Amino acid sequence: APTPEPPYLRGLNPPQREAVLSAEGPVLVLAGAGTGKTAALTARLAHLVATRRAWPSEILAVTFTNKAAREMKERVARMLGDAGEGMPWLGTFHSIAAKMLRRHAELVGLESNFTILDTDDQLRLLKQLIVAADLDEKRWTARSLAGLIDRWKNRGLVPSEIDAGESEAFANGRGQDLYAAYQARLRAVNACDFGDLLLHMLTILKKHRDVLELYQQRFRYIMVDEYQDTNSSQYLWLRLLAQSRKNICCVGDDDQSIYSWRGAEVANILRFERDFPGAKVIRLEQNYRSTPHILAAASALIANNGGRLGKTLWTDAADGEKVRVIGVWDGPEEARRIGEEIEAAQRRGGKLDDMAILVRAQFQTRELEDRFIAIGLPYRIVGGFRFYERAEIRDALAYLRVIAQPADDLAFERIVNVPKRGLGDKAVAKLHQHARAEGVPLTLAAARILDTDELTGAARKALGRLVADIASWRDRLSQLPHAELARQMLDESGYTAMLQADRSAESAGRLENLAELARAMEEYETLPAFLEHVSLVMDNDADRDAAKVTVMTIHAAKGLEFDTVFLAGWEEGVFPSQRALDEGGLASLEEERRLAYVAITRARREAIIMHAANRRIYGQWTSSLPSRFVAELPDEHVDAETTMTGGESLWRAQWSEHDDPFAHVARARPDQAATRGPGWQRAAVAGLDTRPARVLEARASAASYAAKPRGDLAIGQRVFHIKFGYGTIAEIEGNKLEIDFEQSGRKRVLDSFVSPAN
Ligand code: ATP
Ligand code: MG
Repeated sequence: APTPEPPYLRGLNPPQREAVLSAEGPVLVLAGAGTGKTAALTARLAHLVATRRAWPSEILAVTFTNKAAREMKERVARMLGDAGEGMPWLGTFHSIAAKMLRRHAELVGLESNFTILDTDDQLRLLKQLIVAADLDEKRWTARSLAGLIDRWKNRGLVPSEIDAGESEAFANGRGQDLYAAYQARLRAVNACDFGDLLLHMLTILKKHRDVLELYQQRFRYIMVDEYQDTNSSQYLWLRLLAQSRKNICCVGDDDQSIYSWRGAEVANILRFERDFPGAKVIRLEQNYRSTPHILAAASALIANNGGRLGKTLWTDAADGEKVRVIGVWDGPEEARRIGEEIEAAQRRGGKLDDMAILVRAQFQTRELEDRFIAIGLPYRIVGGFRFYERAEIRDALAYLRVIAQPADDLAFERIVNVPKRGLGDKAVAKLHQHARAEGVPLTLAAARILDTDELTGAARKALGRLVADIASWRDRLSQLPHAELARQMLDESGYTAMLQADRSAESAGRLENLAELARAMEEYETLPAFLEHVSLVMDNDADRDAAKVTVMTIHAAKGLEFDTVFLAGWEEGVFPSQRALDEGGLASLEEERRLAYVAITRARREAIIMHAANRRIYGQWTSSLPSRFVAELPDEHVDAETTMTGGESLWRAQWSEHDDPFAHVARARPDQAATRGPGWQRAAVAGLDTRPARVLEARASAASYAAKPRGDLAIGQRVFHIKFGYGTIAEIEGNKLEIDFEQSGRKRVLDSFVSPAN
């Protein structure tokens, strides 16, 4: 009788089986989203162990996240039963490299208990070196040096391998020296940074044949998931380890390469076939995850990218729902609508754990979080801090707490030297002593210590300035809207300048988050009411195991799947991001499009794309265009709806070819192949101002009201505001109105959003 099929092969299709069963020799599985690459890789691991080709400890399996590693371990354990035969080396590149490096640390001058530095430590160290090198640390920031060193490490380059041209990138050729000095410092304090984990292991494997052979012998089989996102140093490391046995199986999808900013190179996929001649290339074409509409929409979208390896995808799943595209008036309405849709899905039997909201940028989560708190919808934020827990937000909140609550010592301690104002540990220790001796809070002790001679000149001056600032902010609290005060405070304290001075990618995000914070404050009557709200938000995560909807960035969602996926903020400037548009290159636009592809293909049954016609960005209302990616989805797979009333026709104009104010661009620039569709989209690519003419006219006339208030409004009149509803005009100043709203109290608004009510 034929032997029964092992459980791990059950249900796999022929090419998946081939990937599982081709144990010997190099294998590359290249396939689209949801085709069961990760599933095949997991089965392969089970197969290798079950057929005694290797002990678990002789298998190296690299996943992209620790979460994925955990899931794979669980699945393999389920397939095999726990035979107590040790565990495979299963984890991220970093976790595996760290484990190896602990064993061989002395070969790169470290002890095995070395510390892995976090970003803050790393920056502090770099800054010391920059100052020691007599460079202007404002012009040559620690952050940009960190970024540069990171990129070198991602490419597997040690200091001696940096050529003069590359070194130019920092402080007129000092980059290489600083890199070397940094590595020496790290060694001196028995530490390494994230990039070193791989780089040191690479150095060791290159220099020490015996170590290399040890691991080449040990790892009979090597497997890599999400291969498209490996960077050069990861690739070199894999190649060394796999060189003698050549039993390496990589699975990936060039269309899902979304980490080029972190040094990932799709070229590694092409390199694989060169470095491992005779590699078996397997393609999986059946998608098991999504409905046909979702799959077709995603495939059509990604077809707009050039230079793809190209692949076919099909599914035999039943039709299901079309991708829904919902246009709403503004950001808060988007959050409201998503909340409603989630509750409706729950009523249909959907589980919160099977739903996710994916955003392009972290700052987008704040509006969602506030809404979910308001309606009591449990949520979790994955792969990032929840909005109010981010460092810059906590700093800003600490300032606000000091203003609102003079006895809040914890808040004062947090900000006393942030941004750096020369109040070192010694000065702060003295302040503490003083406060304890007098039994008063730190802010008060700070004021009093200035009357003594306990502090030296510089510290005294710095503290004096801070004390005066705090006093002045407290004064202004009663005169200014508190959101406005927050903005002034961030500027005057030097906090904004600190972020502006460092021109890294994160700092732009931090500034956006702070703007978003001030915006959030506007919705609360008083500063204490706002702070109260925040403490409630912070407490929201008490129940860790309860069912929750997941909120995360698209980047963090890679490899995951959910029944229902909401894709928020599909607007030009949000997604594709403003940065991608500013950089302008086709490459960055195509990376955004791959992100969009990853986003849609996370959905099993329902994909719901949202876009708002108005967004507050940096505290300013901007009318926004639906993302070009929306227009790239074929009509037959999309159900579009708009919930807008006011301004609807204006918004529709962006969609209609006849009414396309930029139709001439489409005719004049047929070479603008980067985007298809109406002229306004091509114009966007060409860098023209694509706001429909009517938007511009509306803006211009709104601006003219500044000098000339519209004649139809008067103090005491009842009006309707697009966002805040009904209210009565209390003051008129040019085009700005103070209105007492019936729902939300007094607010200052622009008259263009207001119409007379009866
Ligand atoms: P991604 O590119 O997004 O990482 P993937 O190719 O790794 O996707 P998997 O996550 O492995 O895809 O599989 C997608 C879904 O299809 C999972 O729910 C998985 O359980 C299911 N699946 C995979 N292979 C099969 C199969 N042969 N039969 C039925 N379901 C399958
Ligand atoms: Mg996968």
